[in-house]
Amino acid sequence: MPASSRRDGLQAAFAGIDVGGTAIKIGIVDERQNVVGHQRVRTADYPTPAAAVEQVHRLVEQSLNTLGGLSLQAVGLASPGLMADHCLQETSNLGGWEGVRLRELIERTFGRPVAVVNDAVAAAVAEHHVRRIPSLCLITLGTGVGCGLIIDDRPFTGHSGFGGELGHVVVDARPDARLCPCGRPGHLEAYAGAGGVVQTAQERLQGAASRLATLPVHELTPEILFHAAEGGDAVALDVVAATAEKLAIAIAGVAHVLGPLTFLLGGAMTFGGARSAVGRGFMRSIRQQVERLSLREIHRHLSIDFSSLGNDAGVIGAALIARRSALGPDSLRTSP
Ligand SMILES: [Zn+2]
Repeated sequence: MPASSRRDGLQAAFAGIDVGGTAIKIGIVDERQNVVGHQRVRTADYPTPAAAVEQVHRLVEQSLNTLGGLSLQAVGLASPGLMADHCLQETSNLGGWEGVRLRELIERTFGRPVAVVNDAVAAAVAEHHVRRIPSLCLITLGTGVGCGLIIDDRPFTGHSGFGGELGHVVVDARPDARLCPCGRPGHLEAYAGAGGVVQTAQERLQGAASRLATLPVHELTPEILFHAAEGGDAVALDVVAATAEKLAIAIAGVAHVLGPLTFLLGGAMTFGGARSAVGRGFMRSIRQQVERLSLREIHRHLSIDFSSLGNDAGVIGAALIARRSALGPDSLRTSP
C-alpha cells in the first residue's frame, strides 16, 4: 500500500535484520528504501537465536518510537548459509542458528509477515535495486565468502534454493589443498575468507624477509596484513595477488556457466576496495586473471567492480525482500 493511501496517516516501514557471525545489524527502511534507523548488537552476547530475536524486536520498537510516524509492515532476516523452509539448514559461521525455524520465531515475536533469506542474496537484491541492471553476481568477502545472484531481475538460488554457494566451489583440486571451514578441501572460502587470507600470509611468511614475520601468529590479522600491503610489504602484496587469483578462478567459472554478467565484490575483505590503492590493485589482479582464464567473448561482455552499498546492503536487501513478500512478487522489479 503506498504511504499516502494509509488511513492511519502513518508511513509504511520495513525492518531489515542482517545476522552475521560477529554482529546483528538492524535497519528500519522506509517506503523510499532509505535506511532511517540503525542498530547493531554483538551476536555472541545472546545464548540462543530466540534471545537475540527478542532483543532485536525491542530495538526495532525503540527505533520506531523514536522516529515516529512509521508503521511496521513486514520483517526481513538475512543470514549466511543454506536456507530452506524458512530455516537455516547449514552454515559454517553461525552454528547455534542451524535448524531453527527462523521465520516462525520472528513472526511470533514481531506479529508481522517475515521473509528469511541468505545474506548475500539480500545484498544482491539491494545492489540490483540501486544499479538497475537486470543480472548480477554479488560476492561478499568477510569471515566467509557469500554469493547472491540476480538473473533477469529475480533472485536466483537454483531449483532447490541451495544454489549460488560460490564460497564452496573448488578452486584448488590438489590432494593437499587446504580445508574449508565447512571441512571439505580446496573451497574458495579457504583462500578468500578472512581465515584463508591469514593462512596464505602465514604460509608465505615462513623464512620471508618481512616485518610481519616477526609477529606472533595470533597477532597476524587481515587488518595488519592490509596495512602492511599499504606500506608496500612485498609478502602482504603477494597475499593480495594470491587471493585475487583464487577469486578469479571462481568468477571465470560462473561467467562461463551463466553467461557473462556484472560481478560485484563487497564485504570487509576487499582490501579497502576502490578507496585504497591496495584494493584497486586487488581488483586489477582479479580482472587480469579472469581475462587469462576466459573465452574472448565471455570476457568482452562481463564486468567486475566493487559493490556500492557497503555494510548496509544486507539490511536494505532484507527489508526490500520483506516489502516484496508483503506487497507481492512484482514489487522487487517495480519499486520506486
Ligand atoms: Zn566449503
